[in-house]
Amino acid sequence: MYLLCLSDEGNVSGPSVECGVSSVARVSSVGNDVIDGLVANVNEVNFSGYIVCSISLWHKRLAHTNVKNIEKMQTKGMLKYDSKDFEKCETCVKSKFTKKPFPSVKRNTSLLELIHSDICELNGILTRGGKRYFITFCDDFSRYLHVYLLRSKDEAFDAFKRYKAEVENQLERHIKILRSDRGGEYFNQEFDTFCEENGIKHERTSPYTPQQNGLAERTNRTLCEMVNCMLNQSGQPNNLWGEALLTACYVHNRITSRVIPTSPYELWKGRKPNLDYLKVWGVLLIIGLPILSEPNWEHELIRVYLLDMHKIARVTDY
Ligand SMILES: [Zn+2]
Repeated sequence: MYLLCLSDEGNVSGPSVECGVSSVARVSSVGNDVIDGLVANVNEVNFSGYIVCSISLWHKRLAHTNVKNIEKMQTKGMLKYDSKDFEKCETCVKSKFTKKPFPSVKRNTSLLELIHSDICELNGILTRGGKRYFITFCDDFSRYLHVYLLRSKDEAFDAFKRYKAEVENQLERHIKILRSDRGGEYFNQEFDTFCEENGIKHERTSPYTPQQNGLAERTNRTLCEMVNCMLNQSGQPNNLWGEALLTACYVHNRITSRVIPTSPYELWKGRKPNLDYLKVWGVLLIIGLPILSEPNWEHELIRVYLLDMHKIARVTDY
C-alpha cells in the first residue's frame, strides 16, 4: 500500500517521487483536485517530496500557533522553513477569541508534582462517537498535556485513573497534587477517597475566582482556538472536533511557548520531537490499496482525509 497526498495546501508543489508509474497515471486521471505532491509509504510514515516550507505552511501544520513560536522552533532546530512569507491569517482572525490574555503562571515544580485539570465542552456539539466533553490533565513542570473525550462528566474519574496509570508507569514517578478548576465539581466523593488512598492531594480552585483557574483554563482555551482554526481552515464538519482536538493536543506538546524554553515533549520525554511528517490537519490524501485479485501491482485509489495526526500511518477513511 502507498499513500499519496496533495501538498499541504492542495497546491502543485513539484514532481511526485517514489511512486509507481502506473499509480501516478491513475491518480492523474481522477480529477483536478488530485495533484502530484507527496508520496509516502504509510508503513514507514516518512513523507518526502519537493515542498517549499514557508512559515505560513508551518503555521497551518502546527494548528495555527503564533509566528514567534515557529521562529523560535527554527532557531532551536526543531523545524526548518525556506521562506519567511507570512500573510495575515484569515482563519486565525475568524477563529480565535478576543479575550485578554491570561496572566502567566509561575512554574517551580518537577514532573508529576502538580497536575492541572479542567473539563470543557465545545459549544455543546457531539463528536461522531457521541462525546460531548473533554478533560485535560496538564503537568505543571513540562506543560505536557493529555486529553480524553468523555460522553458525560461522570467519566472524569475513569479518565483520571487511566491518566494516572499511564503517566506514572511511563515516568516511574507518582502524582503528588491534582488541582482541578471550577471547583472540580466533576469529581465526586469516590474520587477523593481514591486520591487519599493513593497519597494524592486534591486541590480545588474556587469556581468564583477565575484568577486561580490559570493553567488548565488557559490550556483549554488554547486548544479550543486550535480546534476552531483547524475546522475552519479544513472545512471539515464540526462533529469532527474530537479528532481535531486530539491532534491539537499532539501539536501542543510539540511546540514551544512563552513559558517553556523548549517543547513540553522534550521536558517530558527527554528528547526533541520529530516534526518531519507533520501535515496540515484535514488535508485530502489519496491512498493506493493493492487489489489482491489483480496481477502487476494494480492499485485501487481511495480518497481520505487526514484526521488523526498522531496515528498518521492509519489514515482514517472518511
Ligand atoms: Zn492561522
